Amino acid sequence: MPVIRQLPDLLISQTAAGEVVERPASVLKELLENAIDAGATAVQIALEEGGVKLIRIADDGCGIDRDQLALAPTRHATSKIASLEDLERVATMGFRGEALASIAAVARITLTSRAAGAPHAWRLAGEPGAAPEPAALIAGTVVEMRDLYYNTPARRKFLKAEGTEFAHCAEAVKRIALAHPGIAFTLTHNGRVSLQLPRADARRRAAAILGDDFLADAREVAAAAGPLRLSGIAALPAHARARGDAQYCYVNGRFVRDKVLAHALREAYQDMLHGSRYPAYCLFLELDPAAVDVNVHPAKTEVRFRDSRAIHQFVYHAVNKALSAPLGGLAAGAES
Ligand code: ADP
Ligand code: MG
Repeated sequence: MPVIRQLPDLLISQTAAGEVVERPASVLKELLENAIDAGATAVQIALEEGGVKLIRIADDGCGIDRDQLALAPTRHATSKIASLEDLERVATMGFRGEALASIAAVARITLTSRAAGAPHAWRLAGEPGAAPEPAALIAGTVVEMRDLYYNTPARRKFLKAEGTEFAHCAEAVKRIALAHPGIAFTLTHNGRVSLQLPRADARRRAAAILGDDFLADAREVAAAAGPLRLSGIAALPAHARARGDAQYCYVNGRFVRDKVLAHALREAYQDMLHGSRYPAYCLFLELDPAAVDVNVHPAKTEVRFRDSRAIHQFVYHAVNKALSAPLGGLAAGAES
């Protein structure tokens, strides 16, 4: 007879980790989102060996109280929602209370944090039952992840070469940095600075990440219809690329891959684009959080719109209009 048994907590987290912790870049994404949710204004990221050996994120956000520190890496523990109503209007990047627990199940993590007003910081090593110890930190939180998949060798086999994993990590930083120009980011890899993004406005941040020529030949998109707003930059068709690697779409500040948006954008460019070229854009859709479900997949890059037809039409018209408007790109109009 088959025996049904309750799985131990660590094993549950290790199976669940498959959905959240696909590779170093997904760890990085989760940790960056936590820094943003904590209200950070500057985030320092240090990676070693493509993020497999080390991912360290230091932020200057609100910090975590000593009493709360041990809860942070436990499963389904979050400070961000408390009820179903909260879930339906969630404004933070995180809310599932799963990321730190999943990461802790497949790597070694250490949390060091100093809550505002605390006389000093506290440090918690990831081992089960560990107690916080006093530590030195001026403010904010440092999360350190070491040796990804050290205890799950089957997973480790799926990791790609260091350069590939690092490229995914750098992309994760860019996606978040584009949506948060007011936050400074520094990314180092194996001790060398790879990306340095000072606080900026949205245009300068886009130029820093996508290049000045992207900005020089692009149209500003700014449209509103009822509760829907679309803003950002759409490069003119002449600047379409051979690869779809400069297509950034955000829904309420979250980078998403969405069929409805992708289709609307393809249509908006259709008449103007030749051959199999990919338009470049960085667009931010804002709508009532209750009109979009972000809780489709643990990684939250998928969304479901309540009224996808209305979204499609709105985005199509906004971008099509911006692209067909006469006169030069952004550089001509605005002061940088
Ligand atoms: P979630 O982000 O879904 O709440 P996480 O597992 O990512 O779940 O984090 C659990 C909790 O730990 C968060 O709700 C937050 O209270 C706290 N936390 C994690 N990272 C930070 C950070 N960098 N600064 C402040 N608090 C943090
Ligand atoms: Mg989180």
